[in-house]
Amino acid sequence: MLDDLVDLKTITSLCKRRGFLFQSSEIYGGLASTWDYGPLGVELKNNIKTSWWKNFVWSRNDIVGLDSAILMHPDVWKVSGHVENFSDPLVDCISCRKRWREDQLESKSCPDCGGALTDVRQFNLMFETNMGPIKDDNSNVYLRPETAQGIFVNFENVMKSMRLKLPFGIAQLGKAFRNEITTGNFIFRTREFEMMEIEYFVNPENDQRVYDQWVTDFMNWYKNLGMDTDKLRIREHDKGELAHYAKATSDIEYQFPWGWGEIQGIANRTDYDLQAHSKQTGQKLSYFDEKLSKHIVPYVIEPSAGVDRIFMAILLDSYQEEVVSSINGKSDTRIVLKLTPELAPIKVAVLPLSRKDVLSDLATQIYKDIKSSAVTTGVVEYDDSQSIGKRYRRQDEIGTPICVTIDFDSLDDKCVTLRFRDTMEQIRIPISDLIEQIRLNLNNG
Ligand code: ATP
Repeated sequence: MLDDLVDLKTITSLCKRRGFLFQSSEIYGGLASTWDYGPLGVELKNNIKTSWWKNFVWSRNDIVGLDSAILMHPDVWKVSGHVENFSDPLVDCISCRKRWREDQLESKSCPDCGGALTDVRQFNLMFETNMGPIKDDNSNVYLRPETAQGIFVNFENVMKSMRLKLPFGIAQLGKAFRNEITTGNFIFRTREFEMMEIEYFVNPENDQRVYDQWVTDFMNWYKNLGMDTDKLRIREHDKGELAHYAKATSDIEYQFPWGWGEIQGIANRTDYDLQAHSKQTGQKLSYFDEKLSKHIVPYVIEPSAGVDRIFMAILLDSYQEEVVSSINGKSDTRIVLKLTPELAPIKVAVLPLSRKDVLSDLATQIYKDIKSSAVTTGVVEYDDSQSIGKRYRRQDEIGTPICVTIDFDSLDDKCVTLRFRDTMEQIRIPISDLIEQIRLNLNNG
């Protein structure tokens, strides 16, 4: 299995070359472990988020969405246990002064220089800032390290306004911030990242069944995103590893080039958060069960996924190099991103064979027709630069499923060539069938 793993350098360079990811503030020398999503990156990232929202909000009748603020009352983080417990064990090397996360080290000496390490100190991962013009202890606020607390504090608002009955879920996606001790592996571990979280509230009696169901549902979602299931595994946390709020947690891990790494956690957070906020604020955060005629505090099962890690896993997973024979009989290597049409940043590329006006007039009309039809729901690109071979290679490399080529014969026979990324098959079809053919191929792909 390992020999088909693409290395990180290859993906990093593709990302920069083709406009998926750029280093943040690059012209200033960059800011460590901080990345900007380029024109194709933002499309792929949005497609992942939309797929998640479609699958877990729109296609269900028991989950609603929320978009809560990043800044919250600082007491939220005290009561949730994050101020006290959301920390990693930090050690410094006495010789070279490098900092490490003690729980990630394989020996008790510095991995870089072999020097002795200091005693462990707990380092809180929350970023602090100040609200308003005066910087003092009263103006301290935190950048949220998870989106979940915004859901817990809105439990009553959402349940009442939407008249929800147990079991129900609240979904939210957005930025989160963690002042990680060590970052790295490209976008795998950064200090600013995006999360997709569901807090699914259940009767405490059903917690295990619902927890198991979420693990299955998410494995299926990854499969539907086109990911290789051999590179995915479920790893259950042992007791010592559990977060302060969790009764059980399973990670879904992907086989990255450096080894297995978490892309999502599914945790049974029990009633820890609702109870804690209720106790602190005096607000009753419970559900009235009409059948039992009593209030219960639901347990919550939390599938919490990282957009950036999924983005990276999908790029690695879909990257392929194929040996193909070129026109002059020599063999050539083409790079292909085998993304599903749902995820592809560009859905269709329109490629006139020449820049001559007669062709570009027809090609522009076709381009406009595809763009304005509802079939693509994504970017359609018009490209008339370079040779057609080079244009196909570029589209393969960025994962475009379909190219439409317009040549001089198109002017007479009113047909165009459809070229498919994965098979490189080319078929000639009447322009009048084009929109329908695109629709069929994007939906079946
Ligand atoms: P790790 O053990 O790798 O630090 P975690 O267990 O702290 O991760 P969770 O709190 O379960 O992570 O967060 C849910 C998801 O958020 C993770 O599965 C991951 O995809 C994403 N995530 C967490 N921390 C980071 C980070 N520093 N950079 C990018 N994504 C992250």
